[in-house]
Amino acid sequence: MLWAVKAAGGIIPIQTEAVPYDIPFFSNTLQHNFLQDDLHQALDQVITGGQFIRGTNVAQLERQFGERLGVPYAVGVGNGTDALWLSIQALEIGDNAEIITPAWSWISTASAITRAGAKPIFADVDPIYYTLTVEAVEPLITSKTKAVIAVHLYGASAPIRDLQRFCSGRRLHLIEDCAQGILTSEGGVVAGRRGICSAFSFYPTKNLGALGDAGLVTTSNASIAERIRRLSNHGALTRNDHILEGVNSRLDELQAAFLIVKLSHLAKWTEQRKVAAQYYTKNLAGIDDLHLPQTRPGTNHTFHLFVIRTSRRNELKEFLEGRGIQTLIHYPTALPFLPPYASANKDREFPVSGGLQNEVLSLPLYPELKKDDQDLVIEAVRDYYCG
Ligand SMILES: *Cc1c(COP(=O)(O)O)cnc(C)c1O
Repeated sequence: MLWAVKAAGGIIPIQTEAVPYDIPFFSNTLQHNFLQDDLHQALDQVITGGQFIRGTNVAQLERQFGERLGVPYAVGVGNGTDALWLSIQALEIGDNAEIITPAWSWISTASAITRAGAKPIFADVDPIYYTLTVEAVEPLITSKTKAVIAVHLYGASAPIRDLQRFCSGRRLHLIEDCAQGILTSEGGVVAGRRGICSAFSFYPTKNLGALGDAGLVTTSNASIAERIRRLSNHGALTRNDHILEGVNSRLDELQAAFLIVKLSHLAKWTEQRKVAAQYYTKNLAGIDDLHLPQTRPGTNHTFHLFVIRTSRRNELKEFLEGRGIQTLIHYPTALPFLPPYASANKDREFPVSGGLQNEVLSLPLYPELKKDDQDLVIEAVRDYYCG
């Protein structure tokens, strides 16, 4: 397949986004200023140590991450997309298997399935919480179905206990996509503990963000953990022991060292996200045509994103832009309608996801977001509707 588009001169420049906004959608500047000394110390320690791949920082991060979540095995990998792909690959479910996954997610959830030689079967999502449900999964089961991938989208927990019960009753594997759901929980059980494998991303904007790409898989199964470790390191656990073919998808020492610094602050940052989300919710309540994020009873929403819904989405986005406020759309196109999946799904309908793509808007939210800035966002939204 040919992905590249030839630009003049044959080189495609990286498209960087200039940020002219008074209130950017996301910023880690304050976080990194606050951690400056610790991050520099981590950097110095890695440079001095001279071990950049498969060293003590990765081992320590894996141990601490596993302890934090209460899972016995954590394996650092190159990024969250690979974490999903390695999870599927490690299950050895074979070619042409079908894996049921939400129609409403980031593309990685689906592309990892295809890359593993399986077929993504999209289920429409719950209209209130935007996650997978047992009711949506059940009618899609066929003899080829081997697994279900649930996504804790925006920081909201999927109904993971019900999905786990459903999957184990039908001998299906359940994988959790926790890229947006670190520390999200349901009934006190943290995301990443119910799936046979759970995939995490440390992409810089995620709730626990590296200073580059990084990811991790958790599992309670020793042989799956070993398989993922092998697959991510050319099939080998120790040098030259290639009992299978793998890829190069490792979490590196520098990112691990940065993540160790950050992990100790994650609980506090998560709390700050929740406080900011509550503040939005309180101050944006009562506007017709503005739906605020809902938290399913019994769950802990960690607000990776604060996503509102409105029928006048594009207009509101433009209005906020005029006030110097950056917003983003997660996501402009539901997965079944994207070119790589469109033909396979042309005869199916996805009313919820199809509606969401025209209505969702993510407001600025990160732990260090200043109250004054948040007040300006709130004022601007209220002005748009009521002004
Ligand atoms: C970010 C994300 C991923 C992929 O993570 P990367 O580290 O960017 O590869 C997968 N699934 C979801 C839902 C995500 O938000």
